[in-house]
Amino acid sequence: MNIPRTSFPRVVIIGCGFAGISLAKELGKQEVQVVLLDRHNYHTFQPLLYQVSTGGLEPDSIAYPIRKIVKNYPNFYFRLANVASVDPEKKCVCTDIGDINYDKLIIATGSKTNFFGNASIEKYSMVMKTIPQSLNLRSLILENFEQALLISDLEERNALMNFVIVGAGPTGVELAGALAEIKKGILPKDYPDLDIRQMKINLVQGSDRILPAMSEKASEKAEDYLQELGVEVWKDLRVTNYDGDWATTNSDINFKTATLIWSAGVKGATIAGLDGEDFIVRGNRMVVNEFNLVKGFKDIYALGDIACMKSELYPFGHPMMAQPAIQQGKNLGKNLLREIKGKEMKPFVYNDKGSMATVGRNKAVVDLPNFKFQGVFAWFVWMFVHLFFLIGFRNRMIVFINWVYNYIRFDREARLIIRPYKKTRKL
Ligand SMILES: Cc1cc2nc3c(=O)[nH]c(=O)nc-3n(C[C@H](O)[C@H](O)[C@H](O)COP(=O)(O)OP(=O)(O)OC[C@H]3O[C@@H](n4cnc5c(N)ncnc54)[C@H](O)[C@@H]3O)c2cc1C
Repeated sequence: MNIPRTSFPRVVIIGCGFAGISLAKELGKQEVQVVLLDRHNYHTFQPLLYQVSTGGLEPDSIAYPIRKIVKNYPNFYFRLANVASVDPEKKCVCTDIGDINYDKLIIATGSKTNFFGNASIEKYSMVMKTIPQSLNLRSLILENFEQALLISDLEERNALMNFVIVGAGPTGVELAGALAEIKKGILPKDYPDLDIRQMKINLVQGSDRILPAMSEKASEKAEDYLQELGVEVWKDLRVTNYDGDWATTNSDINFKTATLIWSAGVKGATIAGLDGEDFIVRGNRMVVNEFNLVKGFKDIYALGDIACMKSELYPFGHPMMAQPAIQQGKNLGKNLLREIKGKEMKPFVYNDKGSMATVGRNKAVVDLPNFKFQGVFAWFVWMFVHLFFLIGFRNRMIVFINWVYNYIRFDREARLIIRPYKKTRKL
């Protein structure tokens, strides 16, 4: 990898998401050599991926070059690499561009989509964890309408305009709302010769309420908003299979659809060599102690989505969200520096700042620890918080301008098929 050994201890960080970047910033300009590895050369702001999928934002505005984040840190080396495995005995990380030894290893690889072992759903459904996947979805949505124009068979045409979103967490709810807004404001004008009223947006949730991690009030209000927008919300219904044509469920309700979007679960993105049964638990997460040290190791830490830090308040670990990842990265950075100076590490304490989701224009739900609210004010809070956490002044400006433009014009100009997507489908 062409990285010199220096007198400084070497910290290798796998993954430049929220956790990895937050840790890297804490270690910047300190007496450690930091090697950052990621399979992308940019950081992705995942909470806004659904806006890329629905043409509201260009992908560049939610991505930020990793090299630019660390450019002022003297002892930093970024390598674009896909990490294949770790050999803890040899203290070595094996990647597609070569191997590297570490003194401290940080696993911040986040999570990946969980299909719960269903190969057919995995093959035929669409997911939205990365920018390329969001662009695939954007292309497919638009291609469906282009194709629907050409088809005379009514059943097939309706299947092209029937969208099934599985999983009504924030991702599913936000995507359903955005699709409903396109249906209302954009598609009828773009496709005047297509009966857009036939477009259906189905949001399917296995449990008895949507946004199950939020308050009941937030769930109820979000459902009301979705219904106002014409989304069909199905609760206590589980999609059991999808063959590219039909989505079957645990009841007698089945959907004929060309597009099934799977947002029903994630699991830790573990790495070979570090996937031992004694420290991998529910959700494929790595058990860590209060200092983010992986169970059974002295020099391997895990942060963010991949880490499961059990406590009385969080018996299954912290929620797989940006804030725990950011805060853990910061705490570990401070702790590693404390350790180098011979000081004691401080345990991680999660500061829950709340959660929020938007359903569409003027419609959002916000749960703060002591205050819950919904509606227009919540929508402004949602926008402000997302702008604040985006990396880069240019990105914030572009997103802000896009939002103002979209709000005034009822538009989403990034509805472009830049990179055609050919879905494996039976239709
Ligand atoms: C669509 C969507 C919407 C979301 N909305 C919200 C929201 O509104 N609010 C909220 O708080 N959270 C939200 N989340 C969750 C939040 O994005 C995650 O909890 C957060 O990104 C976790 O941070 P992380 O650093 O652990 O992992 P990530 O941010 O996922 O970063 C992991 C990094 O590791 C890299 N990587 C993984 N494996 C390898 C490998 N083998 N080799 C090299 N590199 C690798 C990846 O490329 C990536 O850059 C959303 C997630 C998604 C997908």
